Amino acid sequence: MSDISVLGIFVADISFSGPKIPAIGETILGNKYNVGPGGKGCNQAVAIARLGAKVNFISKIGKDTYGELALNTLTKNKINTKSVIQDKNLQTGVAGILVDKNSGKNAINVIVGAPSTLKVAEIDKHIDIIKNSKIFLTQLEVPKDVTLHCLKIAKENGCLTILNPAPASEITKEFYSNIDYFTPNETEAEFYTGIKITNEKEAKQAADKLVNLGIKKIIITLGEKGLFYSDGKEEIYLKASSVKAIDTTGAGDAFNGGLAFGLSKEKPIKECLELANRVAGLSTTKLGAGDAMPFFKDIN
Ligand code: ADP
Repeated sequence: MSDISVLGIFVADISFSGPKIPAIGETILGNKYNVGPGGKGCNQAVAIARLGAKVNFISKIGKDTYGELALNTLTKNKINTKSVIQDKNLQTGVAGILVDKNSGKNAINVIVGAPSTLKVAEIDKHIDIIKNSKIFLTQLEVPKDVTLHCLKIAKENGCLTILNPAPASEITKEFYSNIDYFTPNETEAEFYTGIKITNEKEAKQAADKLVNLGIKKIIITLGEKGLFYSDGKEEIYLKASSVKAIDTTGAGDAFNGGLAFGLSKEKPIKECLELANRVAGLSTTKLGAGDAMPFFKDIN
């Protein structure tokens, strides 16, 4: 039995770090650029693998230069690639990322490429991988019928499911009962609840609203402020680690990876949150997403 399966996308992140994020029509002189592995699914899988759990990545890529980058990244990080479908007629995805080097904040445009064509029938050929996992983790970057299908199969087979609802988009009611952990950031939580979150009280209101929709456990990540957890009874608020953030790209992915790892080791929720918070904080201290994920030895 594998520990964790992650359904999601790989994209090549092409990031530009500079003194600010340019405004529309503006040209600025930047400081550094980097081409590295990205895509929420791949980043989360890398974060889990670097912490030391066995992880399967379920995705689709092209047979091109960035497809090679995907396979190299996955293999180098000891991620099982048996369920990564490669199609020579499709392009591997890319993301253009602009980073403000002073705050580490970013603006991103993702071209999903190959995984936007994923079909339930293709996934069904690899479904045993999900059925045999303890944890199933996914986001909203692949077609939603595929996401829902996998969440349902995971639940039916006793997996713990985590949906990182990113990027935020409408989901049907059927999703709610198949999610154990729902992990929006502040903007995503606002999308699903209509509540603008600027403090702990508003995070609690949003979490209550999500619990009332039928989702079991809510974790709202609050960027440099930390996170808020609620299952409708127990509530936990944690401050973010104090680190010098230089690039927050992939911080949410590091968090979800850390959470999935902690849950796979059956740690109590508070410990899982502390670990995820630490993993995410550390990931902001390096430029890039997949390449910035910390190793288990770094977190102590
Ligand atoms: P996303 O990357 O999905 O937008 P957040 O911005 O909420 O998600 O960040 C996710 C987590 O990353 C936070 O809950 C926190 O643990 C960590 N984090 C983000 N920004 C910082 C920061 N500036 N300093 C320390 N930790 C951070």
